[in-house]
Amino acid sequence: MKTKKCLECSTQIQDNVWDYSVKNFGVPLCQDCQKNLKVPLQKATDEAKLLYFALRARGVPAELEKWDGNKHIDIAVTKSKLNIEVDGVHHNTNLKQTVADLRRTYHSFKKGYFTLRIPNTILRDDEAFQEAVDLVFEIAEISVKRNRANNGASKSKHQNEGLLSRILSLIGD
Ligand SMILES: [Zn+2]
Repeated sequence: MKTKKCLECSTQIQDNVWDYSVKNFGVPLCQDCQKNLKVPLQKATDEAKLLYFALRARGVPAELEKWDGNKHIDIAVTKSKLNIEVDGVHHNTNLKQTVADLRRTYHSFKKGYFTLRIPNTILRDDEAFQEAVDLVFEIAEISVKRNRANNGASKSKHQNEGLLSRILSLIGD
């Protein structure tokens, strides 16, 4: 028989824990993860949950229903400075909502975070869903590398400043 694992942390779980979790949370989770994800899972839409667990399965350190100080982000990947919003149709048809979304995107962008808006309809089709997961995974990967490169650049700039001040102090004598 295939061993049963927690979808969040891959810990092996017993049949009764599996059954309880699937019945109460819709997904198999160990007892710790049931506790940790209880509130996020209550708030998240089915499409957001689907994308979240698909990303977790690919090793992306995603967080569900992450609080950003103003509002909950559907899925956040802090390491990649990536916010993912899984949008219902009203985000495209309600003008007020669309402008509010853009304003949020702007404020996050100013803080260095990229917001990816994914219409929930593409997550309902298996083929489109797979492609979406692949692309989000790639974006998260590229973002990590890019942020690392930027950090490296700012570090070397800092080091240069240290070097410059040393040179100035040496030739200033
Ligand atoms: Zn777990």
